[in-house]
Order: sequence, then C-alpha cells, then structure tokens
Amino acid sequence: MLCVTIGRTRHKYMIAEYHDLAAKGAQLVEMRLDYVGRAVDLKRLLESRPCPIVITCRRREDGGRWEKSEEERQMLLRSAIASGVDYVDLEEDIAARIPRYGKTKRIVSLHNFERTPEDLHEVHARLAALDADVVKIATLANSFSDTVRMLQLMASVKTPTIGLCMGDLGAATRILALRYGAPFTYTVLSSDRKIAPGQITWQQMRDLYRPDAITENTKLFGVVADPVAHSLSPLLHNTMFAEDKLDCRYLPFRVPAEDLELFMTWCRASQIGGLSVTIPHKEPMLNYIQQAEQAVNGIGALNTVVFREGEALGYNTDYRAAMDSIMERVGVDPTGVDTLKGRGVLILGAGGVSRAIAYGLRQRGAIVAISSRTQDRSERLARDVGARALAWSARYDIRPGIIINGTPIGMHPEVDESPYAKEKLHESMLVFDTVYNPEQTLLIKHAREVGCQVITGVDMFVRQAAYQYKLFTGLAPKPELLRKTLKAATSPVNF
Ligand code: NAP
Repeated sequence: MLCVTIGRTRHKYMIAEYHDLAAKGAQLVEMRLDYVGRAVDLKRLLESRPCPIVITCRRREDGGRWEKSEEERQMLLRSAIASGVDYVDLEEDIAARIPRYGKTKRIVSLHNFERTPEDLHEVHARLAALDADVVKIATLANSFSDTVRMLQLMASVKTPTIGLCMGDLGAATRILALRYGAPFTYTVLSSDRKIAPGQITWQQMRDLYRPDAITENTKLFGVVADPVAHSLSPLLHNTMFAEDKLDCRYLPFRVPAEDLELFMTWCRASQIGGLSVTIPHKEPMLNYIQQAEQAVNGIGALNTVVFREGEALGYNTDYRAAMDSIMERVGVDPTGVDTLKGRGVLILGAGGVSRAIAYGLRQRGAIVAISSRTQDRSERLARDVGARALAWSARYDIRPGIIINGTPIGMHPEVDESPYAKEKLHESMLVFDTVYNPEQTLLIKHAREVGCQVITGVDMFVRQAAYQYKLFTGLAPKPELLRKTLKAATSPVNF
C-alpha cells in the first residue's frame, strides 16, 4: 500500500488535497498537522474521511514544523485517536504516555536526519516494545551499506516495520519496503512538496515503480551511478517492462565509489538481473565482472552488467549505439567496405562516451582527432586508440567530415552553448551531438541550418537503452515507445 503524505498550512487546502487524493485512488493519506499554520481544528480536518488516514504531528527536532507546546501536540494526537483515525504516529519518547484506544493503530517512530544508527535492531526492539502495531524508522543513509542494513532489518523482524533511508542513497528502501515486509511505504504528492529528503512522488511510485506488485519473484534491475537522480533510465526501462507485462522493476541506485564492492555483493545476494552503469563506475566496474565483450576490453569501460548463472558479464551499449547511429548515416559502399575507412572525424571531449566512440571509429579505420579541454586526457585517449590529440583551442585547425560532441556542452540548463562555432560548420559535414537533453541542442540547430546531416543524442540514447533492454530481457523494445517516453521526459514543460 502507498501512503501519500500531505502538509498544507491552511485547513481548506489540506482537506481539499485529502479528498482529491482519495478521489484519485489513494489508499492511505498521512496528514501532517505540524504544517497547519493556525490553531489546528481537528474536527474540521477529520469531518469526512474519504480514505484511511494517518495523523502525524512532528516536532522540529524530529524534522517537523511544530512550534507550539508539547502539551498541545500530545492533546491533538489523543484527540485524533479518540476520533478513530486509522493510524497515529507516536515518537518513541511519547508512545508510552499515549495509551491505545479503539481501533486506531499505533505507528511508533524514530527519525534521524544525520545517520543510520549502527544498532538498528536494538532501536527496533525498543520501538516495538512500546505497544507498536507498526514500527517506523526513518534515518539518513550516508552509504549504501545503510540501505542494505535497513532492508535486512525489515526482512528479519516480526512487528510490521517501515524502514526508510532518507536521501538518494536510500531510494531502494522506499521502493522495496513492501517486498521486505513493510505494511506501506510513504510517498509525496509532487517533487516540490517533499517533506523528507529522497521522497518519491506518488505518481512515480504508482506508475513507474509499482511497489505493491513487487514480490520475491520480481526480477530487479537498476542504474548504478553517483549522482543518479537525473537518470532517465528508470523511466525508460520501467515503461518498457510495463508495456511487455514483465514482472521486472528498474531502480535508481546511488552508490558512492567506495561502496561499489559492497553494492555488487548485495546485487548477487539479491538476485539482481542487470545494471546500467554510469559515472563514476564505468571503469571501476571492470574489477567486478567475470567476462566482458571484446569492445569493453578495448574501450576499458562498460555501461551494462548482466548477471547470469552466478557471473557478472560486461557490455558497452554506448559503443554499439553510437556506431549503429553513425553507420546508418555513413553506410557501406557497394563493395561492402565501411565508408568510414579513411574518413576524418573530430571528437570533442575525451571522457567515457568519447572513448567508446573513438574506439569504434578506429576499429573501422576512421582517422580520428580528439580535442578536449584537458590536454592530458585527450592525449591519453588518443594514445590508447591510435588517434591524434588536438588542443581545445586548435579544434578549428582541421576540416573533418564528421564532428562528434562528447562533452556536456549544450546540455540542459546551459542550452545556449555550443562546443563548435556555427560559422565553422560546412554542409558536407555529419554532426553528431551525444547530448540528449535537450535533443535539439544549439549545435544540432546550427548544423541543420547549415545543411549538415545530423545524429542526435536521443538517437544514440534510444539505441543504447534498447540494447540494454535486450540484454536484460531477451526482448526487442519498441523504439517508438522509447523515443516518445524520452521526449516527453525531456520536454521543456518538465523543467
Ligand atoms: P565524462 O567522462 O565526464 O567526459 C566529459 C568530457 O567533456 C571530458 O573530456 C570533459 O573535459 C569535457 N568537458 C566537460 N565540460 C566541458 C566544457 N565546459 N568545455 C569543454 N570540455 C568539457 O562524461 P561522458 O560519460 O563522456 O559523457 C559526456 C556527455 O555525453 C554527457 O554529458 C551526455 O550528454 C552524453 N551522453 C550521451 C549518451 C547517449 O546515449 N546519448 C550516453 C552517455 C552520455 P575535462 O576532462 O576537462 O573535464
């Protein structure tokens, strides 16, 4: 079950939101009385109850907004119980003083906005002993191991327990809580109304992660990155799983570099099916796989891991997708020889994406020059793949047939920037911008205006996601659905 938390300063908005949520199918709503600005009129708030309700009134020290007297707060909680609300949230220090009455269930809670205590089981035992129907522990995750410990806690205790790790590092606890035995998990109405760090919106939970239907049999996948909040991969993969009616879910895993080993151990123990891998793990992940496709070894980086029969296998779908996109435009000559052979290509940037593309182009005999802001990095990449390094300021000194942007220049929100001046473009060029958000970057707009052929970052992103999906599930996704989903997510109205 999903619980939607609402906190409004005015009674009429709180009531309207509660009723609106119930009309939209909310199964449980948490009303945060500490958000109400004036004297709380509980009778008015609870006059009609269109769906089950949790009453919470949080003090400042527990992350809430309540500033009036403690006596008044406890009186409100008692009154809520007397009015027969479905659940009341009682912090550890007051739970013993507020007796059970009627059918109201007691959530005994603890919040820690600084860390996840080492003695989680002891904390849990203390809370459960306070006549708890539900134990709620919400703590800040400072590492992925905090998330793992919280999931293990939920799986191992008898009292129904909602264990949530706050912050991006703990997103998995919110999505997987029900699978690990929690009676419900908390969500928020919209991302600008977050009440605790890392909360996921009701809509995202309901439409994307669907935690109610995650069981022991559900196959889990995810993107591992740091940071991870910006990733569109959960949207794309979950949309495709739903389309294909697969019992699979795709989660965002924010994992700091120092936690990668622990994370991979957890993935194996939790029977994770596969991972998309992105910054900063594309290279270090090589240490945790048993086999890799040839390109991964050539590039020295991967972006996909598939777990199969106890082994982790590495792939690079960025490379495959970029090369497919280029080959589709450049093609082969009538004798079957790549027309890339001997073609001059300028790659801007010397990071992971540039490396994958440079490797692929060199494999096909293109003559590659790499120009990046940090000269050492371009020189290293040029040496590794057999290309030429150019200073960033010298990028206009050559006349390439193909220009590829592998830098983030032009990406949202810096949409008015381009890594290559319009007046230096020529209609005979093929311009490939790997930036996909927005699709129509300034570089792509300029290239179209000049009459160049173009490949957008969306072309590449859709292909790489499709390859990943095929590796994860064995199914070919519908490219049009992928493209439509990606475009909707990156359209200006979503920012
Ligand atoms: P990365 O490893 O961080 O490399 C970024 C490269 O861009 C580095 O060479 C960096 O230079 C350079 N750079 C960054 N900001 C710059 C600036 N203001 N001026 C000049 N150079 C700059 O990142 P990555 O993984 O290669 O990703 C790069 C971009 O590719 C992403 O931003 C994303 O838009 C795109 N991408 C697209 C797809 C797709 O499927 N379409 C997939 C992945 C990535 P320094 O070394 O000096 O920092």
